Amino acid sequence: MRLEGSCHCGAVRFALDSASPVPYQRCYCSICRKTQGGGGYAINLGGDARTLRVRGRKDVAVYHARIREPGAARAHTSTAERHFCRRCGSALWLYSPEWPELVHPFASAIDTPLPAPPEHTHLMLASKAPWVEVEAKPGDKLFDGYPDESLADWHVRHRLPPG
Ligand SMILES: [Zn+2]
Repeated sequence: MRLEGSCHCGAVRFALDSASPVPYQRCYCSICRKTQGGGGYAINLGGDARTLRVRGRKDVAVYHARIREPGAARAHTSTAERHFCRRCGSALWLYSPEWPELVHPFASAIDTPLPAPPEHTHLMLASKAPWVEVEAKPGDKLFDGYPDESLADWHVRHRLPPG
């Protein structure tokens, strides 16, 4: 599925091919919540990094989060690149050099109508803010940390997207 996305002010537009376009993954980690998850979580999609095309790249900035693991003495800087528009602040996509073939656009930045998920996966619940209510439906999966199923595997299991 070809996905087209943009920031709010329009300075940045992007497009990519995605075999994992269903917005079923709700990430409650503090980085997603603080940087873009006003409702308490952000939604990541999966895409093919080789197909990513960007217009307005000069307005794309990258944020590397500082992360302190539980029990760790000090924080480290995440290798993950959180790309956002430096003019309006819209979160655009995440890229990790550890998985160079993948890019993870945020569903909030995608303009192409996305398929509605038949069920959700709620992840990083250990980092959830106390005020955030997890709106889990029957069939949803909940994880304190990362889920046991990749974005790609979930789509294969659900035979999505159709066609
Ligand atoms: Zn913008």
